[in-house]
Amino acid sequence: MCPSLPASRNHHPPNCQPNLLLVLRNSGRKTVSHFSWNCSRLAPARSMPLQIVHHPDYDAGFAVNHRFPMSKYPLLMEALRIRGLAVPGALSMPQPAPAASLKLAHAADYVDQVIACRVPEKIEREIGFPIGPRVSLRAQLATAGTVLAARLALKHGIACNAAGGSHHARRAQGAGFCTFNDVAVASLTLLAEGAVANVLIVDLDVHQGDGTADILKDEPRAFTFSMHGERNYPVRKIASDLDVALPDGTGDDVYLERLAAILPDLWGQRHWDIVFYNAGVDAHAEDRLGRLALTDDGLRAREDMVIGHFRNHGVALCGVIGGGYSTDVPALAARHAILFEVAARYA
Ligand SMILES: [Zn+2]
Repeated sequence: MCPSLPASRNHHPPNCQPNLLLVLRNSGRKTVSHFSWNCSRLAPARSMPLQIVHHPDYDAGFAVNHRFPMSKYPLLMEALRIRGLAVPGALSMPQPAPAASLKLAHAADYVDQVIACRVPEKIEREIGFPIGPRVSLRAQLATAGTVLAARLALKHGIACNAAGGSHHARRAQGAGFCTFNDVAVASLTLLAEGAVANVLIVDLDVHQGDGTADILKDEPRAFTFSMHGERNYPVRKIASDLDVALPDGTGDDVYLERLAAILPDLWGQRHWDIVFYNAGVDAHAEDRLGRLALTDDGLRAREDMVIGHFRNHGVALCGVIGGGYSTDVPALAARHAILFEVAARYA
């Protein structure tokens, strides 16, 4: 135990975890701001490197002052290499997703428009950028990356795509910086192949998962859960199977207590073959678009809570990075790296 040490990740061994769940279970009156650290309650010893999917063309080369911080993709990989998490033997590169798999989730004419770079201007405006050759390729690669990460998760227990979480792309078209909905494509691909029978989507990006809800609303084998900022984009939300809306300024304590109360119910609903986890970091206090107030330690505790919950029950988990918006892109990449640091402890 190291309860006397400060409540900061930096003061503890790399694989030391907060005592968060124990605190919540043992005393409903304690809040997570008082969580202690337990250097003896470690995740199982890391026997294998984390399977990571990446492609250099995830970066479509936007100008540095573009509203979408495209350079976070190469900077995330640099952060993972510095942390010793990007191991050559456990690093995979996707091929562009075949049109047929994209059409499982999206209207055929929209898929054809993206591949041919002939998306109507009105839709491009809703997406937030024009669909040229590099953006089209990156959308096909990032989507295939989540499909590949899901296959690796089924094989190894856990895997992460160093992109993905494009949850605003609906069946008819893209929106909100999202061209194709990678998690919906991966879910429907695995279901169509019979590789899985039941899929759970845990979407903790700060924005509501409207596109995923739209695409999967008539798919009874997929369950969509979104916990998000109530007053944030999208204005018109499309109901998930379960939505939890949080007020502006929600911090670590309330956020983690809400999540801790929901996860056992989600797990208990049915036997899940795979969980897709959208670990958007735009719930962070310093996010440009987020409106919530999570800290780095709060994000770390969140990733540990979600990943630990499902991995300790033996459910395969595919992580995607989701949203994160900051002009300090190296800091943003470090925030996204937290998912991989925590996931690596369960590999
Ligand atoms: Zn977001």
